[in-house]
Formats: sequence, structure tokens, C-alpha cells
Amino acid sequence: MGSIPINGSSFAFQTRAFFCIRRAPSRVLLKRMNERNEPEVVRSETEWRARLGPERYHILREAGTERPFTGSLLELTAEGRYLCGGCGAALFTAEAKFESHCGWPSFTEPEELERVRLLEDHSHGMLRTEVRCKRCDSHLGHVFDDGPGPKRTRYCINSLSLDFQPK
Ligand SMILES: [Zn+2]
Repeated sequence: MGSIPINGSSFAFQTRAFFCIRRAPSRVLLKRMNERNEPEVVRSETEWRARLGPERYHILREAGTERPFTGSLLELTAEGRYLCGGCGAALFTAEAKFESHCGWPSFTEPEELERVRLLEDHSHGMLRTEVRCKRCDSHLGHVFDDGPGPKRTRYCINSLSLDFQPK
């Protein structure tokens, strides 16, 4: 539980988690949003459920969000790549991962921008940018424009949406 803020009260925890998810998307991201997509990997709902199990199915196929500070990949710093949990597409590299303190694995950018799809998400009374795998159209997380890299993007991705492949 090393990633819980030092003052660790549940109020601070919730405030911080809320702060992390309320940012609006930048114009650069907006330009790429809602592009049409024909996923290469198509499976029936029954197939997805059987492959993923209930937890991953909820995140990847129903755009669920794992509870902050609970994901198995949150604190991982090993060298390697992060693959889509739905289809195995290589999405993020360990070099792009950084500690954002917001409770989910965070990346400055995908390995190739073309491997993700961005969608406008109006759920929970906020305007956010949803990130999906372009190859199988599974939900990964959201992207915000307050990241530390030159592109300023912060891809906030569920651990359950990813599989880690060590180098
Ligand atoms: Zn995928």
C-alpha cells in the first residue's frame, strides 16, 4: 500500500482520486476523438466473457474502472511492454510509465498512437477522453492533458486492461 498518500486519510485519498479524473481533454486529443474504427479482433460477448473472466470483462468490455490504488501493475517498474488484456496488442512501454500518484498505472504516451482509439466520454457528469485498444475495441482507461512529457498527455490505464510482458 506504499502508493497511498502519506497523510493517508480516506478524505485525502478520495479528493486526490477525484482531482485526477476531472481534467478535460486538450484540443490536440479532441482532434483525434471519435474516429471510426473497424476492430481487427471481433468476438461474441460469450467468447469475451469466457476468455476474460468477470473482473476483466467488466473493465475491458463494459468500460469499468478498477478501484484506485488496487491494480497489480500500479507500482511495477520492470523493463518490458504492456499489452492489451483483450487481444495482446503492444500498447505501452515501461519507459513511458511514470508515477502519477492518481491510483492507476500512468503512461506519457502509447508505443504507437495509432494503436489506441480515443472517444468522448460523458459518463459520471464529466467530459473525459476514453482510451480503447484499436485492434479489439476494448476499454483501457482515460487520457488527460496534464502529463509530464513533451506531449503533456497522461494515459491513466486500468491494470486489469493490460498484461505485462517482461523484456
Ligand atoms: Zn486489444
